[in-house]
Amino acid sequence: MGKIIAMANQKGGVGKTTSAVNLGACLAYLEKKVLLVDIDPQGNATSGVGVNKADVSQCIYNILVEDVPAKDVITQSSVPNLDIIPATIQLAGAEIELVPTISREIRLKKSLEMVKEDYDYIIIDCPPSLGLLTINSLTSSDTVLIPVQCEYYALEGLSQLLNTIRLVQKHLNKDLMIEGVLLTMLDARTNLGIQVIEEVKKYFQDKVYKSIIPRNVRLGEAPSHGQPIITYDPKSRGAEVYLELAKEVMASGERVR
Ligand code: ADP
Ligand code: MG
Repeated sequence: MGKIIAMANQKGGVGKTTSAVNLGACLAYLEKKVLLVDIDPQGNATSGVGVNKADVSQCIYNILVEDVPAKDVITQSSVPNLDIIPATIQLAGAEIELVPTISREIRLKKSLEMVKEDYDYIIIDCPPSLGLLTINSLTSSDTVLIPVQCEYYALEGLSQLLNTIRLVQKHLNKDLMIEGVLLTMLDARTNLGIQVIEEVKKYFQDKVYKSIIPRNVRLGEAPSHGQPIITYDPKSRGAEVYLELAKEVMASGERVR
């Protein structure tokens, strides 16, 4: 039974997509069966695993709005063991189209229930907002993994995210837990990075992963080649650390309920 992990933080540019793609690809490299779910209208996770958005006929939009079964939308990625539910710009309208529909918060959950058995991990790449798409993701998930960028005001806005998580726990998914907090884009040359690490650890304590993602040029380049770092440049520091992270995630246990 697959463990479903939402990669969420309503701030843009903190490393959600990079982490969803690369954690997913590293788990797949470690021989886990992985499904990546792209629920961001920008579709960066989709192109990041080698799927050309122009060739996508059905995407997550058709699942959420038209009740198309997930199995009809799942596509193979460029990485062995890694499948994807793609997103295209069509998804941009979904947030508004879903508002008047019945059970609008549990549409993704219902859909993923039909394919959960086929995977060890399902990783959802959330958009940079706390709207219905993120609510659907949190409602579907066993846990939420929060990427936090090592920069000034790293913790700013996280109370809104934690508040949303609490609301989802109260009303839609009482078993939702925090998988972990991932520090991203660390620039080891600055003292600022070290300060942020301490600040985040004070707040989230043992929820913070030992693996800290460095700022790494190769990680930034890989998406334009439609590849995760583990195939684009397996010897890079970025690949090493995402592989360490995948092992930490595996050690924290598979599905708990
Ligand atoms: P989000 O999904 O939270 O908006 P992204 O994962 O898309 O964030 O990252 C924002 C930008 O930063 C992207 O261009 C991405 O390639 C780049 N990036 C992310 N993580 C790293 C990293 N560790 N090193 C270098 N560039 C990175
Ligand atoms: Mg993103």
